[in-house]
Amino acid sequence: MVDVLVVGSGAAGLRTAIELHSLGIDCLVIGKCKMGNAHTSQATGGINAALGTLDRKDHWLIHAADTLKEGQFLADQKTIEILCREAPRAIRDLEEYGMRFHREKDGRITQRFFGAQLYRRACFFGDETGKELLRSLIAEAKKRDIKFHDNVYITKILKKGKRAVGLFGIDLRTGKFHTFKAKAIVLAMGGFSRVYRRSSSRLFENTGDGASLAFNAGAELIDMELVQFHPTGMVWPRDAEGILVTESVRGEGGKLYNGKGRRFMLKYPRAELGPRDEVARAIYDEIRRGRGTKHKGVWLDISHRPKKYIINRLPKMFKQFKQYLNIDISKQRMEVAPTSHYTMGGVRVNFPSMQTKVKGLFAVGEIIGGTHGGNRLGGNSLLECIVFGRHAGQAVAKFVKQNGFENISDDKVEAEKAKIKSLLGKKGNPEIMREEIQEIMWKYAGILRNKKGLETALRKINKLKNKSITVSGDMKNNEQLALLLNVKNMLVPCEAIITGALKRQESRGAHYRVDFPKASQRYQGNFIFDKKGISFIKAKRLRGKILKVLREIDDPITHHLE
Ligand SMILES: Cc1cc2nc3c(=O)[nH]c(=O)nc-3n(C[C@H](O)[C@H](O)[C@H](O)COP(=O)(O)OP(=O)(O)OC[C@H]3O[C@@H](n4cnc5c(N)ncnc54)[C@H](O)[C@@H]3O)c2cc1C
Repeated sequence: MVDVLVVGSGAAGLRTAIELHSLGIDCLVIGKCKMGNAHTSQATGGINAALGTLDRKDHWLIHAADTLKEGQFLADQKTIEILCREAPRAIRDLEEYGMRFHREKDGRITQRFFGAQLYRRACFFGDETGKELLRSLIAEAKKRDIKFHDNVYITKILKKGKRAVGLFGIDLRTGKFHTFKAKAIVLAMGGFSRVYRRSSSRLFENTGDGASLAFNAGAELIDMELVQFHPTGMVWPRDAEGILVTESVRGEGGKLYNGKGRRFMLKYPRAELGPRDEVARAIYDEIRRGRGTKHKGVWLDISHRPKKYIINRLPKMFKQFKQYLNIDISKQRMEVAPTSHYTMGGVRVNFPSMQTKVKGLFAVGEIIGGTHGGNRLGGNSLLECIVFGRHAGQAVAKFVKQNGFENISDDKVEAEKAKIKSLLGKKGNPEIMREEIQEIMWKYAGILRNKKGLETALRKINKLKNKSITVSGDMKNNEQLALLLNVKNMLVPCEAIITGALKRQESRGAHYRVDFPKASQRYQGNFIFDKKGISFIKAKRLRGKILKVLREIDDPITHHLE
């Protein structure tokens, strides 16, 4: 029994736990993977804050304006203002926890360009920013003696009436069932970009468990159709397909060429540093029209930079291409194509308390929806975890001071145990089902969408929902069981993505409908998906200083492009 259960040991979960500890609240952090392996460790390029180190004119209001604009004005202005105003503080917190950043000779934090941002704003540690960030959060959490429970797969949120009162899970190594009781629960379980065949996520992470659990507990999902496809993932060899080629390669001056050697991004205002959706669609288009490379990609070239510079600024990319293809990126080009990367949609919360519709249930990090609107700026996601992790900690602390423990019904626990046990048997193969889901989503609900394809996808996903699959073996160390749990969780976000994509009869940000290629005023808002179905809320009008800033920066700036 602890005051608070935090599910997820990535940036969002750990920052929340640290805040709770600062406020004297007892918590337990649970993760289905080993601590240090949370998806945050994969983040590469940086974390945004308008520090103005290299570009003095930068200001949090310009950061907010860039963010709202990139999100196609679907995000809530107040939320974005909190995110951007508090970004410098988030960086200071991370420095305090011992995070290392790339620095100028005089000690100031270096900042680099990311796509669709007016100024150099991303603070980084080589191209291993996430790993370093996670290392420092773990060190801080350990210093504070925060409790962890690794390798526990949470399968259900236990409720009493309308309130979340505990969790049910299985230890993936021992096969032991666990029932956890708490006054409040924080979900920091990551996104669901792995529902797509080609993804920059690891196979076992970002499978939508959080969205699925929260939905089943009665929470609302928002913006589920808004999935970000990163322009540059590896295309070859097969086992590296989808692995991210960080935006920092373009931020550091990398250029894109099609299979015929043409720099096709020059026809766009910001060339290679345009919004992610624009660059991803442009690449996809080159490939679709037969102007791609042998492995259906395009070329990304950074070889004009000295080797020393590349090794210093992009060490992970340098190693990645050496390891998989024995390519020296300071001499040779990289073959790349779009890959599913980030989910703007997720659990709907009230900002900044991060409270879901279910009493006692909070959510933070990539699991939530609504922060980024139609598209996310690179570097804003790690930021979201740190800024709103602090807020979540504060709101949860307040909640647990006002609410006690509740009893968990034995019947509900027994029912969940029986459900998990019923997954053992000899029917079907979860591996095949996963591939089927990922293929459906990639083919019909991917970068380019249309009514017919989406309807096909919905039909196929609904059919899979009714398919009964079991796995052989017992509960202990059963990888197939863990995979089956993932696969089952994937189906909820899949249905929500497709339903939202069908309803959003326009093209906006990362969502592109070939049959409705323009944005429409009618859809200037957010789709909410819950057990009752799907509904729409209009976005609020922008107010205050931000309007002035948006007008001032409204011309496409290309001064930083070489
Ligand atoms: C390759 C890559 C590069 C990126 N680069 C950047 C970047 O440069 N800058 C930036 O801002 N963003 C970047 N992002 C996005 C960013 O890394 C993520 O959005 C962010 O790290 C999410 O953190 P999180 O704490 O919300 O979730 P995660 O780090 O994904 O952690 C989720 C946690 O939940 C646990 N969990 C999930 N399901 C269960 C379950 N059923 N039971 C128990 N535990 C569970 C997991 O084990 C894990 O501990 C990148 C993303 C990718 C894929």
